[in-house]
Amino acid sequence: MSRKPRPICPVCGQRAVRSETKYGLRHDCCGLWSWGNKPLADADTHKARSEAHRVFDVLWRSGHLSRGEAYQALSWATGWPEADCHMMHMPKERAALVPAAVRRIWAAL
Ligand SMILES: [Zn+2]
Repeated sequence: MSRKPRPICPVCGQRAVRSETKYGLRHDCCGLWSWGNKPLADADTHKARSEAHRVFDVLWRSGHLSRGEAYQALSWATGWPEADCHMMHMPKERAALVPAAVRRIWAAL
């Protein structure tokens, strides 16, 4: 596995502390954390993103859409480019809009 530089903490400007967990590589600093080598995020952001994913994933886990189609549908329902539809990179304000967008998708299926 490649050892990329640890993400920089936006609060203190230091490199985050890396640890190997049973869930994979984790980085921590100043109450923020991330998985893999993603930028650090606060608890509210993680919560909004995981809630967005939970609601969104039902679209393709249920078999109503393929995973790719579900992302296309989210782009359609939000007006965001598909490249901006990946929840793990969304700011919390955007992730918070996903559940309503998913309801629009269900209504259109
Ligand atoms: Zn820090």
